[in-house]
Amino acid sequence: MLFPVFLIVFMLAALFFFYSTVVSYIEKEKRAASSFFVFGFVLLLFLLGTVFLSPSIQQIIAVVFLGLIFVSFVLFFFQKPYFKKKENIVPRGNIDERDTMFSRDQLEPGSKKFKEYYQRHPEHKEKDDAFRKLPGLLSEDSMFYEPDLFAAADANFKIIEKNRPFVDGPPGESNEKHDPEELSLYLKELAKKYGAYSTGITRLKNYHLYSYRGRKHNYGQPVENNHEFALAFTVEMNRDFIRNAPNACCILESSQKYVDSGIIANLVAQYLRDQGYPARAHIDGEYEVVCPLVARDANLGEIGRMGLLMTPKLGPMVRIAVVTTSAPLVEDRKNEDLSVVDFCRICKKCAEVCPSQAIAFTDRKEIKGVTRWQINQEACFTYWCKAGTDCARCVSVCPFAHPDNFLHNVVRYGIRNSKMFQKFALKMDNLIYGRKPARLKLPKWNRNDREE
Ligand code: SF4
Ligand code: SF4
Repeated sequence: MLFPVFLIVFMLAALFFFYSTVVSYIEKEKRAASSFFVFGFVLLLFLLGTVFLSPSIQQIIAVVFLGLIFVSFVLFFFQKPYFKKKENIVPRGNIDERDTMFSRDQLEPGSKKFKEYYQRHPEHKEKDDAFRKLPGLLSEDSMFYEPDLFAAADANFKIIEKNRPFVDGPPGESNEKHDPEELSLYLKELAKKYGAYSTGITRLKNYHLYSYRGRKHNYGQPVENNHEFALAFTVEMNRDFIRNAPNACCILESSQKYVDSGIIANLVAQYLRDQGYPARAHIDGEYEVVCPLVARDANLGEIGRMGLLMTPKLGPMVRIAVVTTSAPLVEDRKNEDLSVVDFCRICKKCAEVCPSQAIAFTDRKEIKGVTRWQINQEACFTYWCKAGTDCARCVSVCPFAHPDNFLHNVVRYGIRNSKMFQKFALKMDNLIYGRKPARLKLPKWNRNDREE
């Protein structure tokens, strides 16, 4: 009686493996495709074998295997998460943009700003002198120099530069009153129409703001932003390009996504100003806010081991931009799901592959009032100056960075709902994709064949 049920259930499982084979093949994951195919094929052979057994043995096999499936299902998917807990997410104080590596990199040795900075922070001098001796981002002498790809990335940064004047401006004189809920929804859909992947709104909090600006054109200016709301959004990065990190293609990809996210933010901010509301876009080089913190509070994800925003559907495979505004909006309710943090605790793949050992293997610590991981930004940036690219090796291997589709979303569902499944998922990810996943094949035009 139970044997036909057993056959149907396991045939469905075999079908799922073959479906996963096709998905992996499309995703260019050769190792995963062959693993899923072997799983499906072995299961089919096993099922075929059971057909020739005596009815009593068939009955025993059916009871044992269906029982196992039932117990695993209950354990995996109904083990209610005890990791949903309140955490302190409010930093004490504001980050000074002048302490970020991009700002320190722009300091010219011997200049007044240079002297003033290292008088305030003598502890940074030795490490900063070390990265200054290296070739630097997009340099011809760097490890992953590739003339055409570097030139294309450089063009992206030039376009970002040209977009900067559009981040702010005076609001128009429209008297139209907007319903907060409708306007919030409209802005989110508008951002998606322009190319955003996910969007969220939060009240702008003081700790979201840098204390002082740190780029060449605004160095040392205090940040004054009294907007009430922030719309944060992500754009998806191309997985094939990032999976070839730290080669030249990764900086082409990330710079392009800075362009894309910057254009979207500028368009949304301009739209709001035309409606009569003060609004400012926060794009690469023009940030008044710490984007990952805003995005986290706007319910777009959590901060993971590599210090980046981990989104529920694409992990860290995103870039973020923000628009702050005084328009009447409705903030999104923050989901208290910390399952991604729990997964990071056991995973540590990014820490293992990081060429500069910038990512901690240890658990989170309290940093300025927030329990979180923080990478060694000096070590990371120093590697960028050797590589000539923004590396992204950590992003490329993250199990959360698989595409947003049924296969990976089933796994994400399990990770959200069961600690036991998290361990199982990590083991399977290591087996199917490898602890250090292989690079994905890129189109021929992309010269990208250097080894680390
Ligand atoms: S690689 Fe693993 S530990 Fe690192 S961010 Fe991704 S899930 Fe977390
Ligand atoms: S970008 Fe590269 S160097 Fe920096 S933390 Fe990630 S893997 Fe390490």
